[in-house]
Amino acid sequence: MKIYPEEIKAHKLYMMEEQIGPELKRDQVDIMKKWEIEFLTKLKKRKFSHNLLNFIILVTCLSLWIRLVFVVGSEVAGSLYYITAVLAGVMTYSLTILSTHEGATHKLLFLGSSYFSRVMRFLSSNLSRFFFVDPLYYHSMHLDHHNHTGTDKDGAYTNFVWPSRFLITLIPLAGALPFCDYKVHSSNKRSKSKFISECLGVTTIILISISHWGNHSMAQILLFNILFLSVSFSLDRIRETVDHNLLPAGSTSARSLGTGFWAILIGGGPWGQPCHLTHHLCPSLPWYGQIMGHHKLKEILSDEQKKMLMPLEKRNFLFFFVDVVLKNIKYAKKVEEQEIKGRLEHERP
Ligand SMILES: [Zn+2]
Repeated sequence: MKIYPEEIKAHKLYMMEEQIGPELKRDQVDIMKKWEIEFLTKLKKRKFSHNLLNFIILVTCLSLWIRLVFVVGSEVAGSLYYITAVLAGVMTYSLTILSTHEGATHKLLFLGSSYFSRVMRFLSSNLSRFFFVDPLYYHSMHLDHHNHTGTDKDGAYTNFVWPSRFLITLIPLAGALPFCDYKVHSSNKRSKSKFISECLGVTTIILISISHWGNHSMAQILLFNILFLSVSFSLDRIRETVDHNLLPAGSTSARSLGTGFWAILIGGGPWGQPCHLTHHLCPSLPWYGQIMGHHKLKEILSDEQKKMLMPLEKRNFLFFFVDVVLKNIKYAKKVEEQEIKGRLEHERP
C-alpha cells in the first residue's frame, strides 16, 4: 500500500500537539507475552479441537453465505433484495478476513502437518480469491505492518490517513477504482496471483447473476453485486483505519474495539479483528485466544490507557469514528497550511 509523506508529517504533528494517553509499559507487554506463551503451550496439545472448531466455523459461514446469496437472493424482492446484498457484504467481509488474515497470513486456521490440515490450509487460504482478494499481496503487506507498525515501513500504514484517500473507499466499487490506493486486498500492479483472484472473483459474479436471472432485472442484479462487494471493502477500510489511527508507533500502535455489537460488525466477526491490540501484542494467538487475551489485557490497563486503546469501553462507535475522521481532516489542513506558508516564505525575495 502506498504511504504518503504528508501522512507521516500530519501524524508527527498530531503527536506533538495533542495529549496522548500513557503508552503501554514494558511490564504490561511482558505480562501479555508470558500469557501468550502459556496459551500456545496448551494449544499444542489441542490441535485437533482447534482444527475442528475452525472447520465447523468455515463450513457453517460458507454454507450460510451460499444460501443467503444464491437461494434467498434469488427469491426475495423489493427492498429485501438489497438488504440481502448488504448482509451478504457483511458475511463476505467476515469470510475474507478469516481467509486472508487468520489463514493465508498468520497460518493459524489449521495447525499441524496432517493431510487434512494441509488441504484445509490451502483451501481456506485461497477462499478470499473468490471475492477479488489477492492473499499473496495481503500477506506481504501485512508482515511489514506487524514488523514496522506506525512507521514509514508499515505495509498497511493507517496511523494517519489523508481524508480524501479514506473517503474514496466509501464510494461504490472503490476497491476496483484505479485511483484508490488505500487498500491491502490487491495491488494496482499486475501479477499472476492478482489475475487468479480476478478470474475467480468474476466467476462468483457470473454465478450470482445466473442464479438471480429471471427473478430480477439486469440492473437489479448489477446493483446487488456492486452492493455486496462495496459493503465488504468499506467495512475492511473502516476497521483498519480505526484500529491504528492517531496512535503512536510501537507497542501502543493498535486499539481493540472489544466484543460488543460494533466491534464484531467492524471487526469482521469474532474470528476477525475485534481485539486488534491483543493481536499486535501476541500475534501467534488464534482468534479466540485474542478474545481471551483481550479480557486479560483489560485487567492490567489503567483507565487512561483503556480510554486510548479500548475506545468503545466508554463511547459509542459512531461518535468515536466521526471524531477520528474529523481529527484527520483537521491535521491534514494544518499540514497543507504549513506547506503553503513554507512555499511562500521560500519564494519571498
Ligand atoms: Zn495480523
